[in-house]
Amino acid sequence: MKYYSTQNPDQKVSLSEAVIKGLAPDNGLYMPERIPTLSQDQIESLSSMSFQEIGYLVIGSLFSEDLTDGQIKELVGHTLTFDAPLVQVEDDVYSLELFHGPTLAFKDFGARFCSKLMSLLLTDSDQKVRVLVATSGDTGSAVANGFLGVEGVEVIILFPKGKVSLLQEKQFTTLGQNITALEVDGVFDDCQTLVKKAFLDPELNEKLLLTSANSINIARWIPQCLYYFYAYSRLPKNGKKVVFSVPSGNFGNIGAGILAQRMGLPIDQFVAATNVNKVVPDYLKGEEFLAKPSIQTVSNSMDVGNPSNFPRLLALYGNDGALFREKVKGYFYDDQETVKAIQSVKPNGYTLDPHGAVGYLGLKAFMDGNPGYVGVFLETAHPGKFRDVVEEALGEELVLPERLAAFLEGEKDVIPMGKGFEEFKGFLKNLP
Ligand SMILES: *Cc1c(COP(=O)(O)O)cnc(C)c1O
Repeated sequence: MKYYSTQNPDQKVSLSEAVIKGLAPDNGLYMPERIPTLSQDQIESLSSMSFQEIGYLVIGSLFSEDLTDGQIKELVGHTLTFDAPLVQVEDDVYSLELFHGPTLAFKDFGARFCSKLMSLLLTDSDQKVRVLVATSGDTGSAVANGFLGVEGVEVIILFPKGKVSLLQEKQFTTLGQNITALEVDGVFDDCQTLVKKAFLDPELNEKLLLTSANSINIARWIPQCLYYFYAYSRLPKNGKKVVFSVPSGNFGNIGAGILAQRMGLPIDQFVAATNVNKVVPDYLKGEEFLAKPSIQTVSNSMDVGNPSNFPRLLALYGNDGALFREKVKGYFYDDQETVKAIQSVKPNGYTLDPHGAVGYLGLKAFMDGNPGYVGVFLETAHPGKFRDVVEEALGEELVLPERLAAFLEGEKDVIPMGKGFEEFKGFLKNLP
């Protein structure tokens, strides 16, 4: 299978090149040249398959030309080591809990897959790979922990100073080994811009093998489709249509859901739910796509003013904006509404995190106006990761899972960095 750049569909590369490059040299995002579809029988048989078996089937249909059966098993086996349970919250409303991995956010799926795939593709190379990651919080922790100790790979994480939660920060600034954290005096979009500039800088690329583990990388992005197949197969549908609501920032996660839909999974509708960084909901209402500076919110992992996966979403709908607007509905919520949702769902015996709360609100808004659906919202992080917000909303202390509490013990170690490109470039050029 070849992968094309969204900037130039004639520009095709191999799986290996797409993964190692991350971003296409023309600044486009890589996309599979063909989207394989599962048969009706295969879709029906998902309900009797395990999560891992679903993984072999779906990843096999995408990667079987490029990887051996053994490699596909190894890749999926390494990725799906924890469950993604569906938990009923109300009648016809389910939470898809994606936070049962090592860093308690859905990004563990993509990060684990990505590190494994890179190490499989790099076995014959003796050049050190530098993974550059811009993070608004959870990407940093998932990628750092996914790549920790992986030989031949060095991870450099850029995060906005003072704009990620303490727990998030601890998960990627305390690890040492092959993980370096740069504390950037700016916002998330500044971090993302620095990373993008580094990938496009000829001098740096001459000297270093740079790659990305952001959701722009297909190795991070594609595996996220797996839990949509799994959740669909476990969802009690009772003849109703299915809607998934995805709390979104860079729009990789919802894009992976749309990929699953294009592969034949009968998801009728998507909800793109955001905080006040609402560039995509505005687009879906009929406005132009217009990137804006990011605004800080209580759902900080979605504070993205220029969602980098947008061209991918359009490509998945054949660059047909009308079809995109028909299949995906956008809703956005401010901090006050988010906190209220956490409070209002608590009596059902369920604790939302601020991101899941935005997904829940979007789902409810859609279902209120559209009867006949069963709905799933993606609960993208454990509420304990956003402890301050959730505890203040509920007026009670949360019990942190042990693996989360353990991160708090570590000592923070960062390199301060301005948001200008020259300083960052100088740092990279001087790497040993
Ligand atoms: C990254 C993140 C999101 C946004 O996901 P995208 O794929 O960037 O849209 C939502 N919730 C949490 C908890 C996250 O960490």
